[in-house]
Amino acid sequence: MAGRLIVVSNRIPTGDPSGGLVVALHDALLARGGTWIGADPDPSEEGRDRLHDLGNVPYQKRAFRLSAAERANYYSGYANSVLWPVCHRRTDLVEIRSEYRADYLAVNLRLARLIAKELGPQDVIWVHDYHFLPLATMLRSLGVTNRIGFFLHIPFPNITDLDVLPRPKDFARWLAGYNLVGLQTRRDVARAFEMFRADPRAEFLRDGTVKFEENIVSVASFPIGIDSEQIEGIAARADTGPFGAADPRELIIGADRLDYSKGLPQKFEAFGRLLQGRIDPQARPTLLQIASPSRADVAAYQQITSELQAISGRINGRYSELDWQPLRFVHRSVDRERLIGLMRRAEVGLVTPLADGMNLVAKEFVAAQDPEDPGVLVLSRFAGAAEDMKGALLINPHDLDETAGAVELALAMPLAERKCRFEDCLQVVRDSRISVWTDRYLARLASCVPTLSLAPRASA
Ligand code: ADP
Repeated sequence: MAGRLIVVSNRIPTGDPSGGLVVALHDALLARGGTWIGADPDPSEEGRDRLHDLGNVPYQKRAFRLSAAERANYYSGYANSVLWPVCHRRTDLVEIRSEYRADYLAVNLRLARLIAKELGPQDVIWVHDYHFLPLATMLRSLGVTNRIGFFLHIPFPNITDLDVLPRPKDFARWLAGYNLVGLQTRRDVARAFEMFRADPRAEFLRDGTVKFEENIVSVASFPIGIDSEQIEGIAARADTGPFGAADPRELIIGADRLDYSKGLPQKFEAFGRLLQGRIDPQARPTLLQIASPSRADVAAYQQITSELQAISGRINGRYSELDWQPLRFVHRSVDRERLIGLMRRAEVGLVTPLADGMNLVAKEFVAAQDPEDPGVLVLSRFAGAAEDMKGALLINPHDLDETAGAVELALAMPLAERKCRFEDCLQVVRDSRISVWTDRYLARLASCVPTLSLAPRASA
């Protein structure tokens, strides 16, 4: 594919690249040259009419600036209090305010204008995530015909949930401005097709693409992965502490951003059921839940934090012994190497989202295991990772007894079965590794039907 790659994501990494996705995009940009555009971490409101250089050659990093009101309305508001809950099946948490939508559109339009100014004819744009749904439509309205791809990292919404959006029909139109819409799972693709099928503006073409007014869009799944080799390496030499003399015999680990989509209250309650049903009083399973703080300025996140503190207090109050605290709720981020070490140490990885685009923790847990004595992954069916990870014990996180039973089964599982399940899961993790994901996506984007020249349209 000729031309530069322009990556657009809300967060732009500063410093050395770390984390699977960041490294993969960094590598793609190094390989073909280009620009990474994201929101400026500098809170200055000056210079919102231009992109700011964040330096770091050999490719450019450029940032757009937001006002404090735009951060509140575009980012915390429309992106995280409207689109996030809609996509995660929590329409009860949606907060609709006209200024949220207005600033979401205003930020996207400003960004579209800034990008259009710098674009070469052969450049390819790859837009990441729900912060920028209308970006392609806006670029098209400015006459841009370059290839534009989009990847949605979170679940594709249920068609009925889309009706909760202020202007529900925008969603399909915004997506149709892209040449390629990448989704995490085949189930997400089915939901996207259901949306287009119900829309009289859309027509399915023979090759499976969708013609929507003047655009043709391809929709396909690209399950995202991790840098499995790197995590296997870190895990093999990791510190598996920090327990010392209090090292639990049976360690169950959870590691999630503290988000209402992660099913943390259900996880805690299921663990409570397991403790309640214990037959052997000598068994002392410990659930270590590490939850990194997230979006603390959004009310729903403050509520879930208080709820988790209350549940963990209740469970510990009931079951703790002088030398045993069954539930350790650590509300902070931990160093990556330490986290991988803890995953390796654990007998069970407990991943219970009620809705999740992929869930990389599930894949990291698998890659971190000792192949000679692997732990068992207990995984929600509602994580994108569950679509292919058939070696995990799949559960419905709403069913507390089922989850508790799966954890018990995992703790008692004989080595031969653990190895067999682990090998299945590891194959999936390796097959979907992040470098393959980037290559597959960009190759598919290059082969999409190009957008023909467009008459500029007045509104996005
Ligand atoms: P999401 O993108 O919704 O946060 P994922 O599971 O896909 O969920 O990715 C989360 C990433 O954050 C993983 O790489 C995981 O290792 C990391 N992570 C999760 N919890 C913690 C924590 N408490 N401390 C440090 N890193 C964490």
